Amino acid sequence: MAQYRQINTGFWKDTKIEDFSVNEKLIYLYLLTNSLTNMCGCYELSLRQMSYETGINLDATSANLERLSAVHDVILYDRNTKEVLVKNWWKYNWTKSPRFIEGLLDEIKQVRAEDFRIFLGNKLADFLWESESETHLDEHLEHSATRGRRTDLSPSRRMTVFERDNYTCQYCGRKAPEVVLEIDHIVPVAKGGGNEITNLATICRECNAGKSDRNTKKKLVVIGCERGQVD
Ligand SMILES: [Zn+2]
Repeated sequence: MAQYRQINTGFWKDTKIEDFSVNEKLIYLYLLTNSLTNMCGCYELSLRQMSYETGINLDATSANLERLSAVHDVILYDRNTKEVLVKNWWKYNWTKSPRFIEGLLDEIKQVRAEDFRIFLGNKLADFLWESESETHLDEHLEHSATRGRRTDLSPSRRMTVFERDNYTCQYCGRKAPEVVLEIDHIVPVAKGGGNEITNLATICRECNAGKSDRNTKKKLVVIGCERGQVD
């Protein structure tokens, strides 16, 4: 299984990395490039193998891993399942291609540490949702003269919609504070929908995230990765 991993040349100039000890740098680089790395950035790797391949003794490997997690906040390690989670992996390695997302979901489903699975599911929901609002924004810029913009909604209009809808998501029926509430354009901005009160509905962040791709949303729920459980 010949594989290549790309590392940004800014790695060595990153102010976060500057603060790492020599061994921490080596182990972190190892976690970004070893043969077990996958699409989702969470994979099984024993301390023993890490120690063997980096040449850092077992105790030091364990201590360095702890510091990468607790002090530098760049990874998480579950000592029961022996799974590593590289926290920023998604930023540099995920793409929005449907085929990639399918493979990603399969991998996330197989992660055994539940909090890691939830972390990745939430990241994926954010990742997909963000890409959707960017699209809306791009389309808006092209048609700005005639069309409304979702970010132009005034706070008072948002409150009016929330109150009218009794602080309840109009798609799944859940209420604040159980879920984070947002405003949905019933006819999307990109399709010419405006900010009239009749075109606005209360939606929870989870339903909003799933709107662009109901299949992905369904799968996220199936694997227990509902939004808002873990930050
Ligand atoms: Zn909802």
